[in-house]
Amino acid sequence: MYVSTRGNFPETSAAEAIRLGMVPAGGLFVPAKLPSLPMEEILKLQGKPYQKIALKLISLFLPDFSTEEIKDCVDKAYNKTNFAHRSITPLFKMEDDMYFMELWHGPTAAFKDIALQMMPHLLSLSLKKAGVEREIAILVATSGDTGKAALEGFKNVPGIKIIVFYPHGGVSRVQELQMTTTDGSNTYVVAVRGNFDDCQNSVKDIFGDQQFKNVLKGKGFELSSANSINWGRLLPQIVYYFQAYLNLLQKQEIIPGQRINFVVPTGNFGNILAAWYAGRIGLPIGKLICASNENKVLTDFFRTGIYDRNREFKQTISPSMDILISSNLERFLFETSNRCAEKTDRFMAALKEDGCFEVDAEIKKVMGQNIEAGFATEEETLAAIKEVFAIADYLIDPHTAVGFKVYQDYRAATEDGAKTVICATASPFKFGSSVLRAIRPWDSARNKDDFVVLQELSKLSGTPIHSGLQDLEHRPVLHRSVCKINEIKDKVSQILAL
Ligand SMILES: *Cc1c(COP(=O)(O)O)cnc(C)c1O
Repeated sequence: MYVSTRGNFPETSAAEAIRLGMVPAGGLFVPAKLPSLPMEEILKLQGKPYQKIALKLISLFLPDFSTEEIKDCVDKAYNKTNFAHRSITPLFKMEDDMYFMELWHGPTAAFKDIALQMMPHLLSLSLKKAGVEREIAILVATSGDTGKAALEGFKNVPGIKIIVFYPHGGVSRVQELQMTTTDGSNTYVVAVRGNFDDCQNSVKDIFGDQQFKNVLKGKGFELSSANSINWGRLLPQIVYYFQAYLNLLQKQEIIPGQRINFVVPTGNFGNILAAWYAGRIGLPIGKLICASNENKVLTDFFRTGIYDRNREFKQTISPSMDILISSNLERFLFETSNRCAEKTDRFMAALKEDGCFEVDAEIKKVMGQNIEAGFATEEETLAAIKEVFAIADYLIDPHTAVGFKVYQDYRAATEDGAKTVICATASPFKFGSSVLRAIRPWDSARNKDDFVVLQELSKLSGTPIHSGLQDLEHRPVLHRSVCKINEIKDKVSQILAL
């Protein structure tokens, strides 16, 4: 069963928690009781393919789903069509005790694919279990990356339509083409004449518009979002931490029970929280290292216990981490306060009211036992990309580079020699211009066409362009819809043919 982090909702099934996404009155769903996987059980998974590991772990958390149902979701998500690598999340060994875990082999070249290829199938099943007859309309406002990952995840999933809004002229050419060339019978992409905030606010308004939602209900539709606070999106991310550990065991790089560290480039705190839950259910983790860019709210929080979003928002070359409110931190606060809903509620209220809160000494202590945090500047990020390429002939993207730099600092400060896996959260080709700028600063990529940059990077590194980005400029554009900010709601009606 699942409970609310704010204690404001009755215990509910996994299917209902996934269907609802978040607690209606505010708050996030967490398992009422965490399962556990002892080392003997973990060892039984050694040598097993990713799909088997996923089936085992996901089943632990979804008792109201049958094994066949979960297996079906796993097979639909993690197959050869969607993932270019057969181990789904392979490791690259850079040094004796440092590895990159490549989370970017999915269709859109970033780690969100791993969750978004799975979550729509879990949602579709959850609706069926709840006896919901209505069709679901997923609305997404995107500044670029989430939109495409959601489109790929939801396309052709029965009972669901997905509509993505992005700022016209506000995303890169590659990002725009990634979205507008999406096929599938249930996908809709609309460019909005406005910026990302306009898109997001309009979509939020629709979610808050009871009258409109009633009209939708009458016509057989229910609204939902593909948000990263849905438990169905967090859960699939626990799997690859186990897969990395099993992979190292298999290669005899570690012995059973040996603790390893993970470095996670962090924005909304979803990925690192999945690692933390992996540790809680039995994975031997030493330190989790939370890496931020110049938007270093989390670094400050882990160092001082004070979370303060009242600061300048910086646009960086690792845009998926440009976040000042990390939504999933709420679950972490709930867990580290010894599952105290009242405290969690208080912190969240203060965050909403004042943009800031401070945790008590007890929570600080628990946080410090598990998590280290650091940040990298823009210059340090570019230097990290250059360094890794020079040493290992290996390209990393700016998000991954933030992780690498923060790990170097951590290692220098602590001399912790534990084996460490750094999450590589995006393919270097996804952020090609920044990567090219880092490794060839004299040959500025700034004025080059995105696709020329990809070709050059491919040549320099001797690696093929990620398949999700290849030939993009030659694929047929299937979505050409453009609207004004105040037409977004009409657009939704029109698409759903109300
Ligand atoms: C979303 C994203 C992140 C941040 O992950 P969170 O789960 O939001 O902390 C990091 N890197 C890339 C490339 C991403 O797309």
